[in-house]
Order: sequence, then structure tokens, then C-alpha cells
Amino acid sequence: MKNKVSIIGAGLVGSTIAYSLIASQLTEELALIDINKNLSKSQAMDLQHSVPFWGYTEVKSGNYHDIKDSRVVIIACGVSQKTGETRLDLLKKNSEIVKEIMPRIFKENKSAVVIMVTNPVDILTNIAIKMFPQYKNQIFGSGTISDTARLRFILGEKLSVDPKSLHAYIIGEHGDSEVPLWSRVMIGNTSLDKFKKIDKKEKEDLFGRAKNAAYAIIAGKQATYYAISAGVTYLVEAILFDKKTVFTVSHTVDGKFGIKDVCLSLPMVVGEKGILRKIDIQVSSKEKKLLKLSANKLKKAERDIR
Ligand code: NAD
Repeated sequence: MKNKVSIIGAGLVGSTIAYSLIASQLTEELALIDINKNLSKSQAMDLQHSVPFWGYTEVKSGNYHDIKDSRVVIIACGVSQKTGETRLDLLKKNSEIVKEIMPRIFKENKSAVVIMVTNPVDILTNIAIKMFPQYKNQIFGSGTISDTARLRFILGEKLSVDPKSLHAYIIGEHGDSEVPLWSRVMIGNTSLDKFKKIDKKEKEDLFGRAKNAAYAIIAGKQATYYAISAGVTYLVEAILFDKKTVFTVSHTVDGKFGIKDVCLSLPMVVGEKGILRKIDIQVSSKEKKLLKLSANKLKKAERDIR
């Protein structure tokens, strides 16, 4: 099967993911699917004209039949956060959209790997997995990949180290209750405390900048899309080339730390078939407590929409 990706939602996030995939030259074909046909047609045309500069990718404005021969389907449609709104505010509207499109995806192709990007990503991923438990490992959410990238960027600047050379993770909800794993930050094989002393207050400031980045960006330019698109491009690469890369993606937690029946982000190995393995991570007792609070918050929000 060729390296084809379908993207549902041709707005700011969907089209930027398409652009990032074209620039990365990972895909042979890209289909953009949107209820606003004029938009998907115009985005496809604009993207097609970038192809002569990057290398060949067939780009089209498509429909659900394109999913039949797509290896990956990205869900990036629905309403997005406005200034002052939390990701959970989007829940009602976007959960209806997800319930409508999930059966259409698996009707076309039972082996597609589905990446949920639409917010609130954790709850929507849980809804999608509950609809299709038989394809559980093929469905996951982009979760805290952008939050983890933000923390790594901010720490990299602070420590004067390439963010790719430091291991730092944000886990839990992609949202206000997310949890930084300070106890396990490593630079090379050295713990953060041995590399450079950063006091509690400063850690709170650094994490606050990562956690609240989306609010700051939305206040200035209405939406975030570059970081998430770069992250989704890496996810697509891990699937298309079975790279078995570790990402903090959102998936069902099956009893770890006493948490279950909820999707949230933990480090997992991603490859050709989706989630290949969940890493048995170590956390401090404080981090475990915060993760449980995050899980409870997500469960309550999901219960409230029923
Ligand atoms: P946008 O408004 O620019 O685009 C959304 C698109 O979805 C629109 O073009 C709209 O026509 C389309 N759409 C709506 N209902 C549809 C349906 N039923 N079928 C097909 N298309 C439909 O919004 P955006 O800025 O691109 O954001 C999209 C989503 O991604 C939002 O939920 C946003 O919160 C989320 N997001 C997630 C992350 C993350 O880290 N997970 C980051 C940024 C944005």
C-alpha cells in the first residue's frame, strides 16, 4: 500500500499538517477532507503549488473514499479554542462530530491508523476508542506531544542544550491539569538536579510557560498550528516507517497507577500498527497524585456531556 494520508479538517491545523508532510517528503498522496469543499479545494491547490519546490506528493481535495487506501487518517476538524476558552469548552460540539466521522473511517478501511488532534483530544480519543474497541491500538490522540516539545524547548534554552538531547515529559491531560515529570528529567544520562540546580519556583515558572503557551499564542494569533503539525508529522513518520518512536500520546490507561477508563498521555512506542507498547514509567508520589487528579478531571468532563 502506498504512503497515503487522509486529513479530515482542512483548516489551520489540517492544512499546516499537510504542508509539513509535503515538506518532509514522507507521503506519496495526501487527501484533504472538509465539509467546506471550497476551503479544501483552495487549500489543496495552494499546497499543490508548493510541491515543485519540495518534491513530489500528490495532493487533492478528497472525500471519505480516499480513506480506503490511506495508511493514516488524521482528525483535525471541528471547532477550535477562542480567546479565553479552555479545550474542554469545545467538548460538546466536537464529540458529536467525532461520533459521526469514526464509523465512516472504519467503514472505508479497517486497518487505518487514526490520529486524533481535535480538542479536547483526550476525551475525544476515549470516545473514539469506546466506539471501536476492536481497533483500540490503531486509535490514539496527539495528546501532550506539543506540551512536551514546549517544555523541552524552554528547558533547552535554559540549560543551553539541544532539546533533542534532553528527556523531559509532560503527561496527563493535554490541558490545564497536565503534569511535568520533573523527577525524571535527564540530560544525556545525567539527572537535571546534577546538571543544574533549578529551584521549585523556577521549575513552576518554566512549566507554566509550557502549559500556558497555547493561551498566549491564541491571544496573539487566534490559533496554534506549527508545533502540533511538526509533532503530527513525526507521528506519521513513525507509523509509515514503523520507527517505534516514543511519544507522549493519549490512549486508554488500563489500571496503571490505579487509573482506568480514561485516555491521557503517557510515553508510548508508536509504529506501523499504532500504539505498540506502553512504557512502564516511573514517577514520584507527588506526580502520581497529580496524574490521578488529571484523570479524574477528564472523567468528570466526559460524564458531564452525557
Ligand atoms: P479551523 O477552524 O481552522 O479548522 C477546522 C475545520 O474543520 C474547518 O475547516 C471546518 O470546516 C472543518 N469541519 C468542521 N466540522 C467538520 C466535519 N464534520 N467534517 C469535516 N470537516 C469539518 O480549526 P483549527 O485551528 O484547524 O483547529 C482544528 C482542531 O484542532 C480544533 O479542535 C483545535 O482545538 C485542535 N487543535 C489541537 C491541537 C493539539 O495539540 N491537539 C493543537 C491545535 C489545535
